[in-house]
Amino acid sequence: MALLGRLIVATMPLAPKFIVRMVASRYVAGSELEDALSTMKRLSSEGACFTVDVLGEEITTLDEARFFLDEYSSLIDSIVESKIDAHISIKPTAFGLLIDSESAYHNILQITKKASENDIFVRLDMEDSRVTDSTIDIMMRIRDDGLSNIGVVLQGRLLRTISDIEEICDRFGADSDFRICKGIYLEPEEIAHTGYHGIVNATNEAIEEMLKRGAYTAIASHDFPVIDKTLELLQKYNLPPSGNKESFPGKGPGYEFQFLLGVRGDLRRRLSEEGHLTRIYVPYGKQWYEYGIRRLNENPEVATHVLKALLMPWTNRK
Ligand code: FAD
Repeated sequence: MALLGRLIVATMPLAPKFIVRMVASRYVAGSELEDALSTMKRLSSEGACFTVDVLGEEITTLDEARFFLDEYSSLIDSIVESKIDAHISIKPTAFGLLIDSESAYHNILQITKKASENDIFVRLDMEDSRVTDSTIDIMMRIRDDGLSNIGVVLQGRLLRTISDIEEICDRFGADSDFRICKGIYLEPEEIAHTGYHGIVNATNEAIEEMLKRGAYTAIASHDFPVIDKTLELLQKYNLPPSGNKESFPGKGPGYEFQFLLGVRGDLRRRLSEEGHLTRIYVPYGKQWYEYGIRRLNENPEVATHVLKALLMPWTNRK
């Protein structure tokens, strides 16, 4: 499987762009904000809410951050105007984290302030291990500035994750708000689990630690061993179905399930019907091609998932 993934990734640049666009259209709402809005309006009837990501990362000059500041600002206005139930997701390197962390902090603070004024939550996506510390630091600084509408993503595959949960929960208690995923970036074995079972077990342990400590926990996985374990843990920690948003206004104890746009819609709809709060990650932006190629290069296994979803649609409905 890994070999097949690498083969697909190696031949991708040779594929005509219109074919790549056809495949990508399942996973990316489109190139414009309007595309994200119409995608969310269409999917609202499936009982889901959303978190929206403007595609792009790793800017090379701080001036480029201006684009993301303006685009996220328009996105917040549009979410409010259209009354869609949506958060925003941000990649800190799109705001300059790899160039100057102080500037990135100020940029992200600016967006978080505007989001806070409009009652919108900001999730800092977690990128590769070069920026784990600085991403967590930015979240903590903004929290210390008095804004509580921000949280990070932690990656089950990283060996440090349990101690990150402890540190954040010790500091913010039940106000801690996490997204937990396996982590898409393949990291070296000195700092990460590298085999499937190790990653699943570590992710499940992280989910349990978050729920046990009463943090708000967003489980971002399409994998049955993770979802099934979570359902078991919700019973163990006495958390009733979270679909009734009145009983969980945002912060812990509470939970939700998060899915990528276009992935395992059947499972998402089933969880929603069972009363669980579900959220779809909706990426949009002109950089859809670069984004797709980068993700595939970082983790060629994604290519096999995409191919399987294409050839065996009954295993993975939109
Ligand atoms: P897998 O074993 O990879 O997948 C389980 C099954 O889901 C596969 O067999 C396949 O049927 C289906 N599937 C999974 N991915 C795809 C796909 N792309 N196309 C088609 N089918 C697929 N990672 C980070 O490092 N940082 C983040 O901030 C981050 N945010 C995320 C936000 C959300 C809402 C989600 C759902 C994931 C996020 N991820 C993030 C990615 C995550 O870390 C995993 O790489 C990804 O979810 C695949 O892992 P999985 O748990 O779904 O299990």
